[in-house]
Amino acid sequence: MQEILDRNRPFAKLGNTADYIPELAYADPDQIGLTIASPDGKITSVGDCETPFTLQSISKVINLLVAVLDNGPDQVFSKVGMESSGEPFNSVSELESKPENRPLNPLINAGAIAVSSMIHGNNVEEQYERVCQFISGIIGRDNLEYDEKVFQSEILTGDRNRSLAYFMKSTGVIDTNVEKALELYFRLCSIKVTCSDLAKIGLFLSTGGRSQGQVVHKNLPRAVKISLSIMLTAGMYNESGETLLRSGIPAKSGVSGGILAAPPHEMGIGIIGPAINGKGNSVAGLKILEDISSKYRLHIFDK
Ligand code: GLU
Repeated sequence: MQEILDRNRPFAKLGNTADYIPELAYADPDQIGLTIASPDGKITSVGDCETPFTLQSISKVINLLVAVLDNGPDQVFSKVGMESSGEPFNSVSELESKPENRPLNPLINAGAIAVSSMIHGNNVEEQYERVCQFISGIIGRDNLEYDEKVFQSEILTGDRNRSLAYFMKSTGVIDTNVEKALELYFRLCSIKVTCSDLAKIGLFLSTGGRSQGQVVHKNLPRAVKISLSIMLTAGMYNESGETLLRSGIPAKSGVSGGILAAPPHEMGIGIIGPAINGKGNSVAGLKILEDISSKYRLHIFDK
C-alpha cells in the first residue's frame, strides 16, 4: 500500500482543489491517504488519513441507500433514472432533455437532490439525523458532524443546485419543499469523514450490507446491490466508463477528493487526494485505485 501511495503521489500535482465551493479550495492539495478495511475487520492506513474531509458526492450513495430502504426501489426509480450520464455532474441541460425531465441517475446532483426529498423524517433535522445514524452504524462512531463552513459555502454558492431543484419541482419530480431538500443535500455533502470511515463503508457495501456479519435491515442486500450497480456505471462522474475499464470496481468520488470503493466480497477502500481533475475526480486517487485493483486483482472481470 505504501509503495502504491508513494508511486502515485506526484500525480496530485496535475490536479487542483475544487474552488467552485470556495471553502473546499483551502484543502491541502498534497494530502494523499489510503485505507483498506479487510473482511476480518483489520483496518490498514498509509499516508495522511487523519485529516478529515467532507463527503461531498460520496454522500449520494448513502442517501440512495436510505431512500431505497424508506420508500422501496420502485418509488425511488419513479423519480430518478438508472442510466449513466456523459455530462458533468451538475448539468442543467441534460435534465430538461430527458424523458419526463427525470434526472438520469441518483449519483448526479439533480438525482441526489430528488433522492434527498424522499428521505423520511418530519423535518430536515430528523432526516439528517436518520442518515447520520445509518452512517454511524456502519463506521462504529456516533460523533459524526458536518463542516459548518463548507455547508455555508455550499448554501451561498449553490445556485446551480437550486436551479436544478426548482426545475424538478416544476415538473413534479420533487413534490416536497425544495429549500428543505436542498438544505438536507448540502448538509449531507458537508459531513466530515476520514479515509478509514470510507473504507468501512466500502467494506459494508462489498459484503452486501453486513455489519459485523449481521444484515441490519432485511431489505439492505437489495438496496446495496442497487447502489453498487449504479456506482459501477455512474459513480465517477463522466469518467465512470474509463474507471470501469481501468479499475473495474464499484466506486464513488466527491469533489473534496475522496473516493469510496467497494470491490464485491473483497474489502473496503477509502482514498483521499483533494487535487481533482476537470471531471471532479482525485487525480492521484484514480491512479491509486487502478494500482490497488491490479495488485489485488479486484477488477470485477478478473474473477
Ligand atoms: N456539494 C457538491 C455540489 O453539490 C457535491 C458535488 C460533488 O462532489 O460532485 O456541487
